[in-house]
Amino acid sequence: MKDQFLTKKILNWYDLNKRSLPWRKNVLSAKKQYFTLVSEFMLQQTQVATVIPYFKRFIKEIPNLNSLAKTSDKKLLKLWEGLGYYSRVKNLKKTAQILKKNFQGKLPNNFEDLISLPGIGNYTANAILAIAFNKPYIPLDGNVERVLKRYLFLKENKEISKEYLSKKKSILGSSIRSSDYAQALMELGALICKPINPLCSKCPISNKCKSFKKREFNFIKNRKKNLDKYFILSVYKKDKKYLLVKNTKFKFLKNLGIFPMQELMKPKKFKKTLNFKMSNMNMNIKIEYPKDIREASSFYSYWVDQKKIRNSMLPTFTKKVFKYLESH
Ligand code: SF4
Repeated sequence: MKDQFLTKKILNWYDLNKRSLPWRKNVLSAKKQYFTLVSEFMLQQTQVATVIPYFKRFIKEIPNLNSLAKTSDKKLLKLWEGLGYYSRVKNLKKTAQILKKNFQGKLPNNFEDLISLPGIGNYTANAILAIAFNKPYIPLDGNVERVLKRYLFLKENKEISKEYLSKKKSILGSSIRSSDYAQALMELGALICKPINPLCSKCPISNKCKSFKKREFNFIKNRKKNLDKYFILSVYKKDKKYLLVKNTKFKFLKNLGIFPMQELMKPKKFKKTLNFKMSNMNMNIKIEYPKDIREASSFYSYWVDQKKIRNSMLPTFTKKVFKYLESH
């Protein structure tokens, strides 16, 4: 794909077919950087369609980096409620505060500084440099990886490793329209080179695509193995109120309100009441209703009125458990 003719084809296709997304609006440079930062944090682990309403609400309430650095955690969590992976919004605020203090309130335009900021890894740094600063970087998200693997017909385990793909991505070429080109590749993967049934007849690069020539589009997925975890979840109810604790015990949902829980290590007999998937964790949960509250009450515990749970600032996980309790 090194030849400029193909790069041009992809860009032409993008110009005609790109989705109108709120973070792609034509705005001034500072705003573009802010839009890119917020959208890239939101898009980590989350689909475009889910992110759109959250992004619009977030930008309306918190229009720039300066206001983000000052926004209370309570308000931020409320705006993020339902998106999951709450550490993202905490890192986003920390990043805004560092930018304000050390970078004159601006996003740095180099890889080393970007990667030093909380919540910004290799992928997000590449995406920011390409999209916000028009630099010739190609962020390898799942969509771009798929295009690359199919275009080159990469199937072997070693060929589909992150390291190998990172080396191969130079084959995707570059353009002076780096911002558009990075987004064009992502869009091509999302809209045309779909995981199942790719729309090759509409693809601008089909004439050189090896998978298309072979009519073979599937490859082994380098899936993360889901970890089975077991928990006892204790429900205490008094005067139509439930006891919750601020989670300081588990790595997930840190500092958020959850029902008191205890993890069991590979129990022999475990009759689960509920199952919940979180990140690469398969949570098997057994609900119990202990009488003695002393074990659960601590500095971090508090009562929440059952009527207020639905609209309160609690993680989806807690709300789902609550929904289950209400219906059983
Ligand atoms: S031709 Fe088909 S398989 Fe190849 S990149 Fe295009 S959509 Fe994907």
